[in-house]
Amino acid sequence: MFDKKVAKLLNQQINKELYSGYLYLDMNNYFQARGLDGFANWYYIQAQEERDHAMLFYQYMQNNDLKVTLGAIDKPDKKFKRDMDVLKAGLEHEQYVTQLINDIYAEANRAKDFRTMQFLDWFIKEQGEEETNARDMISKMELFGSDPKGLYMLNQELKARVYSAPSLVL
Ligand code: MG
Repeated sequence: MFDKKVAKLLNQQINKELYSGYLYLDMNNYFQARGLDGFANWYYIQAQEERDHAMLFYQYMQNNDLKVTLGAIDKPDKKFKRDMDVLKAGLEHEQYVTQLINDIYAEANRAKDFRTMQFLDWFIKEQGEEETNARDMISKMELFGSDPKGLYMLNQELKARVYSAPSLVL
């Protein structure tokens, strides 16, 4: 029997990942309006990745014969006045998601649900990378963002990001 609390948290994570995608789409929206197409591209791809994460949780639940309940996705309600607000909100959000993943891991551990722990290992690593990426963005913005040429170069760099499907296959 699958642990009820673990199943509930897995189901909740589908919604949280979709919300993440929604939030990043709003960040794409902000940068698109700013005319910073490289930044917009970076957040667009980020949104795609979050939808992938949601589908991995969805698929994992179905593979384990767990009932999925889909709920409403909150609207992104963060207000961005400056570019840096977006970057900082991104890091804050990833730290929050790391906590969510850790909480599911802790419940799976309590329930001796080793299969779910192994599934979550990929997300533990992924969250480390997400936080590093978000911090790198902030550092680069602090170093180069206040100078128009620097901002242009940074935008060009972020324009080069391409989408790749998650390495975890279920
Ligand atoms: Mg995610």
